[in-house]
Amino acid sequence: MNRFRLVLCSAVCLFVGLLFLRAVPADDISEHARKLHFSSLVVDTHDDTTQRFFSPKFDLGKRNPDGHIDIPRMREGGLDAIFFSIWIDGKIMGPPAVLKALDQIDEVRENVRLNSKEIVMARTAEDVRRAHADGKIAALMGVEGGHMIGNDIHVVRIFADLGVRYMTLSHFYNDEWADSSTDKPEHNGLTNFGKGVVREMNRLALIVDISHVSDKTFYDVLATSIAPVFASHSSCRAICNAARNMTDDMIRALAKNGGVIQINYHVGFLSQEFRDFEKANPAAEKEINEEVKKRCGDNEACTLVTGDQVVRDFMQAGKLPKVDYSVIISHIDHAVKIAGVDHVGLGSDFDGAVMPIGMQDVTHLPQITEALLQKGYSEGNIRKILGENTLRLMTDVERVSRELNAGSSN
Ligand SMILES: [Zn+2]
Repeated sequence: MNRFRLVLCSAVCLFVGLLFLRAVPADDISEHARKLHFSSLVVDTHDDTTQRFFSPKFDLGKRNPDGHIDIPRMREGGLDAIFFSIWIDGKIMGPPAVLKALDQIDEVRENVRLNSKEIVMARTAEDVRRAHADGKIAALMGVEGGHMIGNDIHVVRIFADLGVRYMTLSHFYNDEWADSSTDKPEHNGLTNFGKGVVREMNRLALIVDISHVSDKTFYDVLATSIAPVFASHSSCRAICNAARNMTDDMIRALAKNGGVIQINYHVGFLSQEFRDFEKANPAAEKEINEEVKKRCGDNEACTLVTGDQVVRDFMQAGKLPKVDYSVIISHIDHAVKIAGVDHVGLGSDFDGAVMPIGMQDVTHLPQITEALLQKGYSEGNIRKILGENTLRLMTDVERVSRELNAGSSN
């Protein structure tokens, strides 16, 4: 009976949703913004779409009715380079974690291979530019959590060899060698083994990603890494006080090291009002979780996609504070003021987080270009934020790697 009611609800919701879609006007993008956006190289350093590759319902090459990313929608939104996240729950450790990470790396490579007319694997900044010149989307990979190396440095080298371009040192939980921002401190930051991992990543041209790590781990990384590092998907703590976001001091230190903060679009990391409301109303969260569970059961990919829809439905219904995409611009602008315009980029968290109203999926990306133009940003500076800063950072990391390898052969 429950199942029948759910089917009925889905049909009704779909009908209401279609009415709603028709009522929403298209994004108001000026010709100037459109030209600038589609002639820029736009890079997104964090997307959780990999989880969807395990669902038979999802097809990267076709337009899907849900979620945030697929090739047709990347084309429509002008996204030229995407870092697919390799992610498994941080409680899974040791050899099973390595094996699951390898499965995901293989899924990314296979999905790219099956759509090779449109998308191609890239490893370097030069590969990304070549793909763009060939009219193809560049696909890259980032491992989101040091737990996936199974506490074994050999695995870092294997990941790099398979095409992984960055590794986030921890996820929600501490791993064996790095403390997370959302767990109790256990290692006082980065252990000696962890410092060795960072140095090996420098040699392998793997970007060290400090999103998710504790503040102490972050400062240990800066003291250890020879190459610039980035936050693949973090926003500003001065605007929204989430431990996952970066303080102004951290943003300044990251920039001094040549790094880039890639702004995350998740509503809970963008809006203090949303965060405060969620904290003060645990019943709302319970209601969201129950609705998601009802629609998805234990299916992780479905949970990620549906959670986003349910929260935005609740925002539209007035059950949660409304968070608009303009908050993304506030975070970009704040980070630029603190770090300088050479050190800010985009790390959406598409297909892994709750998107604000107006940024429901990747097709809405030109709104960022439009809003930055309206704020008075120059074309050159907007191109930097959209992707050039990330490509510059990749080039720097690749140069350090070459220097280290040249040094080790002497
Ligand atoms: Zn994350």
